[in-house]
Amino acid sequence: MEKINITLKEKGIKPTYQRLKVLDYMSKNLRNHPTVEMIYEELAKEIPTISLTTVYNTLGTFIEKGLVCGVTITGTEVRYDINTESHHHFLCKKCGDIIDVDVPCSLSGKKGELVDGHKIEEIHGYFKGTCRSCI
Ligand SMILES: [Zn+2]
Ligand SMILES: [Zn+2]
Repeated sequence: MEKINITLKEKGIKPTYQRLKVLDYMSKNLRNHPTVEMIYEELAKEIPTISLTTVYNTLGTFIEKGLVCGVTITGTEVRYDINTESHHHFLCKKCGDIIDVDVPCSLSGKKGELVDGHKIEEIHGYFKGTCRSCI
């Protein structure tokens, strides 16, 4: 928890208890790219007073400060990712898992480079199909 407290302060975010808990959840669930609802349901077991709006607003603050990023592969929901480095995702159409895949991104340029005269700030890539566990 102390490390999370420092991370928040470094980013200029007031470390309230609820913010600490949200970031704590994110850092312990690196691989599941949770939705707001998933985080809320988990935290509500421990903090009955927490609201969905609070979790939603907290994630908004985290995105603004670059602590997490939003993944919108499914087209219907935002999944939150604490890994803010450029990386690719695999969406399993059977179980709905979003998995980080370790493949090089060499097709379309790098952060800071130009693509057809446009400056790149973010690169997103994803695959859809059947995951390792569902094949
Ligand atoms: Zn699957
Ligand atoms: Zn990811």
